[in-house]
Amino acid sequence: MRRPFVVLLAVLAMPAVAPAQADSTTGPDPIAQLVARLDLERYKATIKGLTNFGDRRQGTDRNRAAVDWIEAQLKSYGCSNVARLKYEYQPQPPNLGPRQTRDTSLASGGGRNRGIRARTGVNTDSTKQPDARLRALDAQATTPGEREEVYCTKIGATHPLEMYIVGGHMDGIGWGEAANDDGSGTALVMELARVFSSTDVRTDRSIRFILWNNEETGLNGSRAYVEQRRALQGTKDEPKWLGMIQHDMMLFDHGMPRADGTLPPEQRPEADVNIEFQASAKFAAEAQLLAWGFERANEKYATQYPASVGSHMTNTDSAPFQDYVAAISLRENERGTQIGAGWDPNWHQPTDLYATYSDNDFRLGLNAAQTTLAALAGLVGATIK
Ligand SMILES: [Zn+2]
Repeated sequence: MRRPFVVLLAVLAMPAVAPAQADSTTGPDPIAQLVARLDLERYKATIKGLTNFGDRRQGTDRNRAAVDWIEAQLKSYGCSNVARLKYEYQPQPPNLGPRQTRDTSLASGGGRNRGIRARTGVNTDSTKQPDARLRALDAQATTPGEREEVYCTKIGATHPLEMYIVGGHMDGIGWGEAANDDGSGTALVMELARVFSSTDVRTDRSIRFILWNNEETGLNGSRAYVEQRRALQGTKDEPKWLGMIQHDMMLFDHGMPRADGTLPPEQRPEADVNIEFQASAKFAAEAQLLAWGFERANEKYATQYPASVGSHMTNTDSAPFQDYVAAISLRENERGTQIGAGWDPNWHQPTDLYATYSDNDFRLGLNAAQTTLAALAGLVGATIK
């Protein structure tokens, strides 16, 4: 298969196309101007809007209503060609075969477990949600069948049939509001769709903004996309994929659990955005370059929190893409060694509520948005008319 050298070239070329300072010959830096169009209060309002649909569990009326609301928002931003991917979801029967033994010193994704670990799990008990209004909102059970997920596309002016895919998952679980998992990533993608869709923004290449469904059941929405569209690449129906960037749980980096298993109540001052690729992927080399391009964009344009690069991307919607294109994910923590070790006590719990988070938490998500927006703007050759 031909490898997407355009990704390598575009990443390597970023500093040249993204001057940090205003220059008398080229005018003000368009990337800095675009980043300035992101705003903490707008980002928070979009997360709040998503929490109006409770946990948005797949296969429920509240999930379908959330897809409709997201679609209406994307249209209001002027994002073109709003469309839906349809697929069928039937849950798999539980695996009753012999249990595979696993090396417990290794985390999911291949990293090593270190330090203090706390319990993780998915809350399935409605009575653990003390808010009666939210308990009722989250009450309808899921049913198998047809599913839909919504996307829109910024069309490139010179290379419309080449695109980056930018995703977050809009479904949640746990009898809360799925504010962080993954209202925070969904809102980030929606805010980027808003900025790039502004009529005065021009890009050379295309960007697809997509809000996956069925992530929590095993990445079924992103797998369906790969299955239905991979072979169409390069036709008028599907631009060629240049990279896939996923956003999942963007707000909470309070550090490692303490010895008693509890977490510090405040965002740690050294919180960071974790950019992960998967070292075992077929496109690991390209994904790593893409990840470092994002790290450089963070250094230059993010207002507060830095970024770190890791090699153990796992359990996320970029995984179905990783053997076909450069695929990375952005998170509040590493998924395997940190979230998997209990660094986020609200993960899949009734406490994943909008009200749980402070502005220092929301600001970590905003810094991730600044990072992806800046990196993407360089990659697609964004300018302001
Ligand atoms: Zn998630």
